[in-house]
Amino acid sequence: MGFDGCVILNRIDFVENTDGEQLGDCYYRVGSGCPFNRFGIQSCIDGFGGLEFAAGIPGTVGGAVYMNAGADGQETSDTVNSVEIVTIDGERRVFDRNNLAFGYRWSCFQEMEDLAAIVSVTFRLKASSLSRARQQDYMARRRLLQPVGERSAGSVFRNPSGVGFSAGELIEKAGMKGFRVGGAKVSDKHANFFINSGSSTSRDMLELIHIVKEKVNQKFGIQLVEEIRYISPYHQSPR
Ligand SMILES: Cc1cc2nc3c(=O)[nH]c(=O)nc-3n(C[C@H](O)[C@H](O)[C@H](O)COP(=O)(O)OP(=O)(O)OC[C@H]3O[C@@H](n4cnc5c(N)ncnc54)[C@H](O)[C@@H]3O)c2cc1C
Repeated sequence: MGFDGCVILNRIDFVENTDGEQLGDCYYRVGSGCPFNRFGIQSCIDGFGGLEFAAGIPGTVGGAVYMNAGADGQETSDTVNSVEIVTIDGERRVFDRNNLAFGYRWSCFQEMEDLAAIVSVTFRLKASSLSRARQQDYMARRRLLQPVGERSAGSVFRNPSGVGFSAGELIEKAGMKGFRVGGAKVSDKHANFFINSGSSTSRDMLELIHIVKEKVNQKFGIQLVEEIRYISPYHQSPR
């Protein structure tokens, strides 16, 4: 299927301490291309809490803010103090947190029509002597419960609200663990992770996502909604 467009490798990778108004807190200004897991680990080693969950999340700081990545009861947005962007007209703008909105895997950047890119993010983190130990616990649990090291895009579906079960539990209860289409497979370890077992095409993966959605809908009357975003010109990510 391929992608008929421009792919940008973001190398805006820096971490600097900045001054902030709240004494005792630490303010880091971080380039949007900095690996989120690397910064999450560094901040905990430095003795600051708030981004313990980031250790297991691949991707960049910019992607984490755009998606409001989260896990283990924490979300990126809890720690965002300000965000610097560049618009499609090349204008630089800085938003402080009072002018930003976030929700479950949602940020206002997803609806900003003139956004070209998030350039840097200033995080405000609280001193914590327990952050590194907590982070190691989260990482150990992730290794136990998720197919770490296998090729996936993370959680495929958002957890539906008000049904009492996560997307992964619903997929598992629909008997889809291990189900495969070509080289794409529902993980045996965590049913909301779909694995490329080596030879998956994007068509296999799209077909697998479609079948799983249908099965869960037939069995429970629940329409799962993707957390992943489609970049193919043939598919639109749901808002
Ligand atoms: C193994 C695995 C585990 C994961 N676990 C979690 C988890 O626990 N919790 C969670 O929330 N997510 C998780 N994810 C999903 C994903 O890693 C996060 O959402 C991540 O933060 C996305 O960052 P990215 O840089 O990879 O962005 P991409 O996936 O490349 O992009 C995501 C979106 O953000 C936009 N974007 C990226 N960078 C910028 C920028 N600089 N400016 C403007 N827009 C930008 C892209 O255009 C795209 O629309 C996981 C993924 C994997 C593969």
